[in-house]
Amino acid sequence: MVEVNFGRRRPETVVGLRRVAELKEWEGNRIGAAVTWRRVEREGPGAYAQAARTVGSPQIRNAGTIGGNLGTASPAGDGHPFLAAVDASIEVASATGRRLVPWNEFFVGPKRSSLQQGELITAVVLPERLPERHGFGKVGVRNAMVISTVCAVVTRDHDGRTTVALGSVGPTVLRVPAAEEMISAESNPSEADLAEFARLVSEGVRPITDHRSTEQYRRHAAGVLARRLLERCLR
Ligand SMILES: Cc1cc2nc3c(=O)[nH]c(=O)nc-3n(C[C@H](O)[C@H](O)[C@H](O)COP(=O)(O)OP(=O)(O)OC[C@H]3O[C@@H](n4cnc5c(N)ncnc54)[C@H](O)[C@@H]3O)c2cc1C
Repeated sequence: MVEVNFGRRRPETVVGLRRVAELKEWEGNRIGAAVTWRRVEREGPGAYAQAARTVGSPQIRNAGTIGGNLGTASPAGDGHPFLAAVDASIEVASATGRRLVPWNEFFVGPKRSSLQQGELITAVVLPERLPERHGFGKVGVRNAMVISTVCAVVTRDHDGRTTVALGSVGPTVLRVPAAEEMISAESNPSEADLAEFARLVSEGVRPITDHRSTEQYRRHAAGVLARRLLERCLR
């Protein structure tokens, strides 16, 4: 609708998905594409629910779906860091069948996904077991109704395995393997370890300067946000 409002798109045909009941099904770790942010906010796992709570306003959360968030494939989509951090897959279907696309093969560039013509996003498939602790955070120019300058999810499992996924700081949502490896090896991270983790995250992101922020600010904020989320997981 944003593209239509700005006159960048004039679709001749519009397909309404709201009455396709199957797309609203949520069974265990398979969440239908037409599940709204409102539902994720109430019923979703920790960091996904936290992300849902920050999407737009109550009106947007009542109408907006997780499938639409993926369909846009915006680098700033607030739902993407959780999917990347837990290694989720996207289920897509067409007249010829269904396929499961790992998150890192789904996002291919800014507002570009690997969805083929004639394919519909049908669900998000989370792993059977989620990491023990996870948290979402977002930095923007105001507290609510804001597109992320940086958004992130950090997960930490009982064995110390840590993941960090960030949005708005690269062409697509991204993970920072160097930071993950370094901190996963620390069973009880010290002040110095936390500082190094933040530094590696700042170094590992690939932000640009645009009307919302400078590259330098995004780099700095990414490190600070990731460290805070990790500290919350460690508490
Ligand atoms: C005022 C406002 C505030 C917003 N705030 C946020 C925010 O804070 N964070 C955020 O992440 N987003 C935000 N958004 C963007 C948007 O509302 C959300 O990303 C929402 O999840 C989109 O879902 P939708 O169902 O409305 O998708 P639509 O807008 O209907 O569709 C988006 C795109 O995805 C495609 N699509 C939709 N469903 C499918 C499907 N099942 N399979 C294939 N393609 C599909 C559509 O064709 C379209 O290209 C905001 C939007 C507005 C207008």
